Amino acid sequence: MPDDARGGAGGGPVRPIGRMAVSFEIERAYAEGMIQHAREDAPNECCGVLAGVDGRMTKLIRAHNAENSPYRYSIESRELLKIYTEVDDAGWEIKGIYHSHTFTEAYPSPTDVRLAGWPDALYFLVSLQDPEAPELRAYHIRDGEIEEEPLAIVG
Ligand SMILES: [Zn+2]
Repeated sequence: MPDDARGGAGGGPVRPIGRMAVSFEIERAYAEGMIQHAREDAPNECCGVLAGVDGRMTKLIRAHNAENSPYRYSIESRELLKIYTEVDDAGWEIKGIYHSHTFTEAYPSPTDVRLAGWPDALYFLVSLQDPEAPELRAYHIRDGEIEEEPLAIVG
């Protein structure tokens, strides 16, 4: 069995082995776009997708939180299919999935971990716990394990 057998669809970036001081670079416009979305939908959680190609983000696609809830989120399959189609037609990939926590920290909840089915994506979390100082963090969630990906906001 090849080493990358657990890697799913493939085509993702090759991750270095071991600990390196590498941050994931995200342009300020996308970071601010996620925070803005979180603020607009508060107190409910917001959610959406970041599309990209190679190491670069190309579009923030907002989704509707079908739960309309401050405690959880989901995207209807019909809307998700529309997003997949848009991303695919543009020759992009889904690089990240974001949602907000309006009352708690920017850390995946047990539910987030349980529902995380996308080992190649980065899970972005916006926290509005301190409304004056929103927080954005990102994680890989694989097999129930949470690993933070340090973010560098650029541009
Ligand atoms: Zn959550």
